[in-house]
Amino acid sequence: MVHVLLSCHDSRCTSVYEAYGALEDVAALACECGCALQIVRDLGDARDAPRPLELIRLAA
Ligand SMILES: [Zn+2]
Repeated sequence: MVHVLLSCHDSRCTSVYEAYGALEDVAALACECGCALQIVRDLGDARDAPRPLELIRLAA
């Protein structure tokens, strides 16, 4: 499990997300605009929060 901050790969899109999940699942996530998301910061190990993949939109 990882807990990361993601931003949209499209520089015109300002969406920011927080995600929990397996690294391979998190890396496959896409933005609502259809672009890929890139991991911008590792927020630490989330092993104490066993839950399915979760994507939380922080900003539009
Ligand atoms: Zn986007």
